[in-house]
Amino acid sequence: IIEIKDIKRNFALGTETVYVLKGVDLTIHKGEYVALMGPSGSGKSTLMNLLGCLDTPTSGKYILNGKDVSKMKDDELADIRNKEIGFVFQTFNLLPRTTALDNVALPMIYAGKNKTERTARATEVLTQVGLETRMDHEPNQLSGGQRQRVAVARALVNYPSIILADEPTGNLDSKTSVEIMRLFDEIHANGNTVILVTHEEDIAEHAHRIIRLRDGIIESDELNPKHIK
Ligand code: ATP
Ligand code: MG
Repeated sequence: IIEIKDIKRNFALGTETVYVLKGVDLTIHKGEYVALMGPSGSGKSTLMNLLGCLDTPTSGKYILNGKDVSKMKDDELADIRNKEIGFVFQTFNLLPRTTALDNVALPMIYAGKNKTERTARATEVLTQVGLETRMDHEPNQLSGGQRQRVAVARALVNYPSIILADEPTGNLDSKTSVEIMRLFDEIHANGNTVILVTHEEDIAEHAHRIIRLRDGIIESDELNPKHIK
């Protein structure tokens, strides 16, 4: 479902050009569970932002579910993002002073769902992530792990074809990280495509395929022997 061909991404920084992605080729099929690793500054977040249609490449092609999204305009891209992508961030990115239920329901407003549908579906995904008793809580009334669960529920709400997570456990202690990873395992087991960035080998071990980025190119791309049957 994801096909990337010779993707490059440069940034203009004053009079200089920063070359971040220097030609990445990548195919990811439906239902894969992928961990993206690599040193700080190697381009992981830049690649995730491209995959998540938050950004477009300087050159190269990105085909998502048969559609070339590499040259799409902002409004088309926003539409694809809302329909196809669920994004989870390291810092949760929830709206403050807004209940878990309303945070999760928000992407469905853009998808044109009515209030009854929104409440029903938001309740369903919040229950799936184990927060059925926390739906009326605001982010500052929730623990870090619970906030990340809300963010995961929000990512799932529009039935995306891909779940992307950029260091989803980066702000969590190790016990809470394990709980969040169990949730991603479950989401993958339900048939979803999951791609996550992590610095930690223990976290990456959950994935079935591990891709290592170095200095803007793919250094290695291997199946995780732990999951080969
Ligand atoms: P980390 O593990 O620290 O999150 P990363 O692999 O996610 O690192 P990126 O955030 O993709 O790294 O950044 C890669 C490089 O691109 C960095 O050197 C960064 O400074 C540069 N970069 C990213 N975004 C921009 C931008 N908008 N303008 C200029 N340079 C940028
Ligand atoms: Mg990053």
